[in-house]
Amino acid sequence: MTSPDLSVVIPVYNEEDGLSSLFARLYPALDLLAAELGMSYEIIFVNDGSRDHSAAVLAEQFKRRPEVTRVILFNANYGQHAAIMAGFKHVRGEMVVTLDADLQNPPEEIANLVRTMRQGYDYVGTIRKNRQDTWFRRTASQAMNGLRQRITRIKMTDQGCMLRAYSRSIVETINSCNELNTFIPALAYTFSNRPTEIEVLHEERHAGDSKYSLYQLVRLNFDLVTGFSIVPLQMFSLLGFGLALISAVFVAYLALRRLIFGPEAEGLFTLFGIAFFLIGVLLFGIGLLGEYVGRIYQQVRERPRFLIQAILEAQKDT
Ligand code: UDP
Ligand code: MG
Repeated sequence: MTSPDLSVVIPVYNEEDGLSSLFARLYPALDLLAAELGMSYEIIFVNDGSRDHSAAVLAEQFKRRPEVTRVILFNANYGQHAAIMAGFKHVRGEMVVTLDADLQNPPEEIANLVRTMRQGYDYVGTIRKNRQDTWFRRTASQAMNGLRQRITRIKMTDQGCMLRAYSRSIVETINSCNELNTFIPALAYTFSNRPTEIEVLHEERHAGDSKYSLYQLVRLNFDLVTGFSIVPLQMFSLLGFGLALISAVFVAYLALRRLIFGPEAEGLFTLFGIAFFLIGVLLFGIGLLGEYVGRIYQQVRERPRFLIQAILEAQKDT
């Protein structure tokens, strides 16, 4: 296999039911693209420690199309982003497209990404046209989009869609970062010279269930915010400063009152109310600090992000 023009990286976790329909659309779409634009491609599947038969299904597909297929097998589940990072470390193409395995991103859209890249962009993001997710997911992700935009200066209309194209140099820069809990589309955006966005279709999941629970979505968004900005910490110290000012006024008022009207014993529960509120703020602040400290801790240990069990690929010619 010589260096192809395009590498498609697909993380796979418990997708055995959907993989065959993915193959049935992905390969023809890429073959057509290759014929039309005269470009070669490779597909890198990263099996993220699936507990079903996804690995076997991938191995079979590798046997069917060994010249354009490569399969990286993890020994355990390290998460979608680790899987994509592993794929990035092994890409050979000049252009890299990431895609979900669940067919929520139609493989036919890869052609549009490639055409847009060829106009001289080095990062093509995507906006999902009539997104097929639950109302809750849509609203929550809109809210997070807005918050992220304000505090990280990363401009993405739709951060959730993984169907994206990157130039090889962006991918290499990401590889050299060695970040642990990162959010790839955002990290890539910060390295791009000429980013753009296009609209893509979005479909319902064809088989299997979403791998993200509410908790994991919340975690992902924490990664996104704390990984790209210390604004939360700064906001918190501002809040602390504001509260200290208010308390100072309050104390001065109480002192004056004490001098003029004498001691007081009422208002006990008001005091409790204020104290509980402040304790809440404090705990939030400690938690926030913990987010950053935890990330530092994970980063300094420098443990490998994932372990690769095996790689299925055709022997190189040269
Ligand atoms: N995925 C993965 N490892 C995980 C979770 C998910 O490789 O721990 C893959 C999954 O197989 C799919 C993609 O990441 O290809 C997106 O997952 P999913 O469709 O469940 O996420 P959603 O569309 O609900 O955001
Ligand atoms: Mg999905």
